[in-house]
Amino acid sequence: MFPPGSLLGLLGGGQLARMTALAARRMGYRLRVFDPTGVDSPAAPVCEGVVGAKYDDAAALEEFARGLDVATYEFENIPLAALQIVERFCPVHPRWSALEVCQDREREKTFLHTHGFPHAPFRVVTTPAELADAVVALGTPCVLKTTGGGYDGKGQLKITAGLDPAEAWAQWSGGQPRRGVLEAWVDFDAELSVVCARNGRGELRAFPAFENIHTRHILDVTICPARFSPEVLREAEEIARAITEALDVQGLLAVEMFLARDGRVVVNELAPRPHNSGHLTFDASLTSQFEQHARAVCDLPLGGVDLLRPAVMVNLLGDLWSADGLRAPDWTPVLAEPAAKLHLYGKTRAKPGRKMGHFCVLAPTAEEALARALALKAALQPPDARK
Ligand code: AMP
Repeated sequence: MFPPGSLLGLLGGGQLARMTALAARRMGYRLRVFDPTGVDSPAAPVCEGVVGAKYDDAAALEEFARGLDVATYEFENIPLAALQIVERFCPVHPRWSALEVCQDREREKTFLHTHGFPHAPFRVVTTPAELADAVVALGTPCVLKTTGGGYDGKGQLKITAGLDPAEAWAQWSGGQPRRGVLEAWVDFDAELSVVCARNGRGELRAFPAFENIHTRHILDVTICPARFSPEVLREAEEIARAITEALDVQGLLAVEMFLARDGRVVVNELAPRPHNSGHLTFDASLTSQFEQHARAVCDLPLGGVDLLRPAVMVNLLGDLWSADGLRAPDWTPVLAEPAAKLHLYGKTRAKPGRKMGHFCVLAPTAEEALARALALKAALQPPDARK
């Protein structure tokens, strides 16, 4: 166990690391962050130490790792080799074996398959001919995804009945040799996620399920409590708990799922870290996912996961900023709503689709929180938008 006062290392300095650092600091932890953008990274201002270097810079990784008590990471695209360097100096949680599964879609799908977890049928494809066979096997529509490095719908191509597989392959691969996973389309009613925390002694707690609404493949709105039947909620939680155990995760594991139109819960993706859908726990839960992550990684007892009040989170993307990405919208509508909490990540330049912050609205019911959150969302405009 690494008690408060220990030095916690964070690989990756984006908003997830920033919010983890804020929660850990409150408990008295000291933080050091590693990020290619160094002092400009969102987490840097809330950490004592910052190392700015690329993930393949072994000397910088050693400098970062020396003296740490324990380390974690904030996103799954950290090269395994970087993790293994840090592991020579201190424990890193979740362990690289869990990261290895989650950072590669082929390994992730194979893991789900061999352990009997529900997932969309898939085929691994490396050539236009393999893609053509896989499209016949899975039917249309289907979706071609990169095995590694993709997130928020990046590197994905939906293949519909009219699209020639050779053309689809050329468009998706850009003429480069590539490995992909072709997935059957899941006809879903809704999307949900369950974030589980597990410490080194195997204690496991699951946050209540989050109901997620995506726009252009990016999370837009999260609602909690999720508006699904108790059976669906129970099944989603059971699946997420079982995956967390099977991957032997110490830390957080977010399990993204579809609620298919036929009522089945189908796993889409796994993330061994705090998750965008869990941001509302910062304001609405007894323990936030960020504090829970720090507790689990440091092997403390886990905090209570009760939702104190129904809540809705809305992501704030760079599209709301001025066209040059420098000027933020007027936040008055959110600030003037007593039930809303504004979170900005300190990113200096906005870009369309870039996650710049979020806000959370608390209310007596999820429906009321949603109505107020959507009204606030509609009231926010880019600073140079014509009225
Ligand atoms: P992903 O990057 O795999 O999380 O996908 C991003 C979003 O694309 C998901 O949240 C879904 O809205 C959609 N999507 C991904 N895979 C499928 C699928 N097999 N069937 C239907 N929609 C999908």
